[in-house]
Amino acid sequence: MNLPEVPGLEERLAAVDRVVEAAHLAERSRELDRAPAFPREEFRALAGAGLVGLRTPTRLGGQGLPMRAAGRLLYRLAQRSGTTFAKLSLQPEFCSVLAERGTPEQIAESFRPLVRGERLIGNHVTEPAAGSDAAAIALSVERTREGYVLNGTKSEAAFAVDAEAAIVYGRLADGTDRDAGVTAFLVPQHLPGIRREIVPDLGERWMRRGTVRYAGVRLPLEARIGEEGAAFTYLKEELTRERALLAMIYLGVGRASWTETVAHVGARSAFGRPLHHQQAVAFPLVEDGARLDAAELYADRVLADLDGGRGHDGPAALAKWLATETALSAIDHAIQFHGGRGYSSALPHEQRWRDVRSGGIAHGPSEIMHVVAARELWPRGGRASSPTGD
Ligand SMILES: Cc1cc2nc3c(=O)[nH]c(=O)nc-3n(C[C@H](O)[C@H](O)[C@H](O)COP(=O)(O)OP(=O)(O)OC[C@H]3O[C@@H](n4cnc5c(N)ncnc54)[C@H](O)[C@@H]3O)c2cc1C
Repeated sequence: MNLPEVPGLEERLAAVDRVVEAAHLAERSRELDRAPAFPREEFRALAGAGLVGLRTPTRLGGQGLPMRAAGRLLYRLAQRSGTTFAKLSLQPEFCSVLAERGTPEQIAESFRPLVRGERLIGNHVTEPAAGSDAAAIALSVERTREGYVLNGTKSEAAFAVDAEAAIVYGRLADGTDRDAGVTAFLVPQHLPGIRREIVPDLGERWMRRGTVRYAGVRLPLEARIGEEGAAFTYLKEELTRERALLAMIYLGVGRASWTETVAHVGARSAFGRPLHHQQAVAFPLVEDGARLDAAELYADRVLADLDGGRGHDGPAALAKWLATETALSAIDHAIQFHGGRGYSSALPHEQRWRDVRSGGIAHGPSEIMHVVAARELWPRGGRASSPTGD
């Protein structure tokens, strides 16, 4: 990374290095790709090192760091051990709807244990007919005297079978207006009427994504998070921060592959001289280095703007898109210039490519990142819109 230092982070960066070494996180990430499972022990180890809940306020058990500082730590974690544990570190950020709008009981029973690495909470937004167009959420919520009843299917969800609870987004019968009709609930995943199933993935296999069906699932009134019909606004705010931080994760992984490949083509010879003497090899790597530098600077500025209250949805969305594309190009060249071994699981590049590839779809597809940015360039006076497109 060629970014200016963020003062005061040295000890925390050293903590990242220590936990990566002590808990063998790089090796564990490879194992979890081969034998997908939720890494509970490592989750607790990360939390113990103060690396879960980097952005979470200290009053809720987190580290209370600014976006920019959190971005640096995630970058380092991803550079040293891939996407797996950096994304685990971000789990409380993915549940900030709960941190910011949850009741004291919900926070005590679910959010704080999440930050301690003791409880896993999923996010159930996507449905078979509502993904990019998340405002089309149709999971039906019926209001009864005792509480609420959920009926519908959530798809593509990370931790489909591993999460102890999930933040579930649904629509009340009278919530017909797209954005304004969505309400969030904290739903324990062992309740009667819930059926969960894994659909195996290309990468990030440890997440064990899949489908969760809700058939007549009864919830008490206290399961609601925040106001009825307000959850879409909460989700939008969360997505902007998530995307900017995810950018640093993908760039950390891309930088790792680039650095290893620069060293490899300096040492490996073919046709009687080191590979880097071939311009066909050297030029793509020179370009990747510049692209990584540029994407890192861009993501860092987006994070600094969010810290300074100057942040916007568009730049955060573009940071994720740019980071994903840049990292994928660097990793693809790493596979190519390591030759046959690069394509094999003997080296980490092929897994890194599969894992980072999710960045083009998860938390909003790349095309939708463009939609979000374009909407800011050419605003449409006052019309409510979807966080991932509409
Ligand atoms: C690794 C991973 C983890 C995920 N985790 C979760 C999770 O925990 N919880 C959850 O709720 N969801 C999760 N998702 C789902 C993810 O948010 C959705 O897959 C994503 O929003 C796209 O929705 P979709 O799959 O329905 O695709 P669709 O909406 O059907 O879109 C398919 C493709 O069409 C194109 N497209 C769509 N709309 C437009 C447009 N307006 N302009 C141009 N092109 C367009 C894009 O290329 C898009 O990828 C995860 C996905 C992945 C890959």
